[in-house]
Amino acid sequence: MSAVILDGKILAAKIKEQLKSEVKILKEKTGCVPCLVNVMIGDDSGSCAYANSQKRVAEQIGIEYQLKSLPHDIPQEKFISTIESLNADKDINGIMIHKPVPKHIDYHAVTNYVGIHKDLEGINVANIGKMLLGETDLIPCTPAAVMAHIQSTRVSLEGKEVVIVGHSDIVGKPLSLLLVRELATVTICHIGTSQAGKLVDHVSRADILIVAVGKAGLIKGDWIKPGAIVIDVGINKTGATIQGDVEFESAKARAAFITPVPGGVGPVTVTMLMKNGIEAFKLQLEGKGR
Ligand code: NAD
Repeated sequence: MSAVILDGKILAAKIKEQLKSEVKILKEKTGCVPCLVNVMIGDDSGSCAYANSQKRVAEQIGIEYQLKSLPHDIPQEKFISTIESLNADKDINGIMIHKPVPKHIDYHAVTNYVGIHKDLEGINVANIGKMLLGETDLIPCTPAAVMAHIQSTRVSLEGKEVVIVGHSDIVGKPLSLLLVRELATVTICHIGTSQAGKLVDHVSRADILIVAVGKAGLIKGDWIKPGAIVIDVGINKTGATIQGDVEFESAKARAAFITPVPGGVGPVTVTMLMKNGIEAFKLQLEGKGR
């Protein structure tokens, strides 16, 4: 058996076409297109590369994208007042705070100053809380990308054993909420699971396995249940190459579907950021402000 490769570039291209038409219709209706701003502190080259790819995707869809660079030593209060002025700016529809931020900025605290209907990444407490209650206006982009990959297989989630490895606030935890909504049976594993020597037991019974850890080759190919769907979120730079968290070739031999790294979840994540931008624009059209 050799798995079907879930190509993120192809999936992202399909979603981008849908978003492009949606932006066109919104422009005909309102005369405007969504305008998103990425607030970056400093000019770290890795961050700039990611911002450049966001800008490129925004342009492809017809969305306006601005990069607002702030000095590396900006005090937190001044940073917060910048966010608040963007919240008040009617011409800005979506705001994201670029990571990493310098040590003197409390990332978690400042994200909560982004207006609820401008929260492009869907990560402030209000949007995470809404997601817990089943409302999904603005949802975190990587979990949305994982869901889009699973949906592209047309395999129903209902009653499936889904194992997530990684319990971060931006991937594992919000993803578990989206999966439960589809009536999947969800197990979240993390470092504690590995330390207890139980990771292989959980992974090997997964109908759908999602890994978001950041350790190259953590998941061995022979742990994969034959016929499973494997979604690898991990990004690990080793020299000039990028690898996922799953041993790709040996996993591919057992799985039914698998995402590659690079070119799997990543391209869809950026597209989901734009989808949120359009959603935010529509929320503001409905008169929902901060
Ligand atoms: P994180 O770094 O905040 O947390 C890592 C998680 O892995 C924790 O839950 C931790 O308990 C778990 N973990 C660590 N060692 C483990 C082990 N040996 N066994 C089991 N679990 C272990 O996570 P994050 O920010 O979600 O990032 C995870 C990975 O996903 C990184 O490689 C990151 O670059 C990547 N990522 C990719 C995208 C994308 O769009 N493709 C988006 C976000 C993150």
